[in-house]
Amino acid sequence: MNRVKKYLPPIIILIIFESVAVTLWLTKNNPFYLFNFSYIGIAIALGLILYINQYPHARRVVQLLVGGYMFVYLGCVCRENMQIEGFWYYLFTGVFEAATIHYAVAKIVGPLIFGRGWCGYACWTAMVLDFLPYPVPARPRKKIGWIRYITFAASLIFVAALFLTKVGGIEQIMFWAFLAGNAAYYAVGIGLAFAFKDNRAFCKYICPVTVFLKPMSYFSLIRVTCQTDQCVRCGKCESVCPMDVEMTNNARNRQNGTECVLCGECVKQCPKHCLAITAGKGRSPKSRRGSTA
Ligand code: SF4
Ligand code: SF4
Ligand code: SF4
Repeated sequence: MNRVKKYLPPIIILIIFESVAVTLWLTKNNPFYLFNFSYIGIAIALGLILYINQYPHARRVVQLLVGGYMFVYLGCVCRENMQIEGFWYYLFTGVFEAATIHYAVAKIVGPLIFGRGWCGYACWTAMVLDFLPYPVPARPRKKIGWIRYITFAASLIFVAALFLTKVGGIEQIMFWAFLAGNAAYYAVGIGLAFAFKDNRAFCKYICPVTVFLKPMSYFSLIRVTCQTDQCVRCGKCESVCPMDVEMTNNARNRQNGTECVLCGECVKQCPKHCLAITAGKGRSPKSRRGSTA
């Protein structure tokens, strides 16, 4: 029973992804969905298992497996625009395909279960940004998060303009927009990381996807919780958080609570073992480090 509790997060992830894989395979009569969502679910579950067993690079392994697969195979080889422009594109065409499914699972409905796990374990932009030299951000945090709403609106206007002007070769344009968009994300993301001494500056201030991710992850089932009666207020956890989360406060409205990417760095640092990534309300007072359920 303890073992089941310990491995509850990867079990939940695997069940969710396999449910999506089988449902889409059968309803769309396309075995690609079975392969695609099974691969992603297994990669994430594998990473969580590695993490639970304290392998130090577990999260990076998943990032490279999932982010690399999505960018190289789905984006560059299959020529699907998996960015937010692709989401608008398929939404306007009324087709529940590719980026629409990806957004529904990873960025709109999924965050109700796994919060911003996408940002910690799968995003191909952060996959590169996390190699930069500022995993612990310089503080204080800038008050320029409003930029995300501009980039969000710009992505929508760009795709709407393509449809309204009835431009030809729209699929080709969407493919080139995917490549150009990613090049811009990497350039701006790397530039900001060095300018602000913060690997995740792009995530905090620019990324349009956070307009979906933040409100949905507020209600996330899986989240970092603190056994506050054991906490000695040493501050080690907050000092290593890449996203400036007030993780010692269990309230949903804790500071930057919707920024948590479930990286687990705070959990590793706590000398009292009072932090954990949990599914549900949190741990009982007798829980100890290593338990993630
Ligand atoms: S905030 Fe945006 S760029 Fe950053 S990890 Fe999440 S989806 Fe990727
Ligand atoms: S360090 Fe902890 S609170 Fe901060 S993003 Fe990672 S898991 Fe979330
Ligand atoms: S590292 Fe642990 S003991 Fe220290 S403030 Fe954070 S939760 Fe409390």
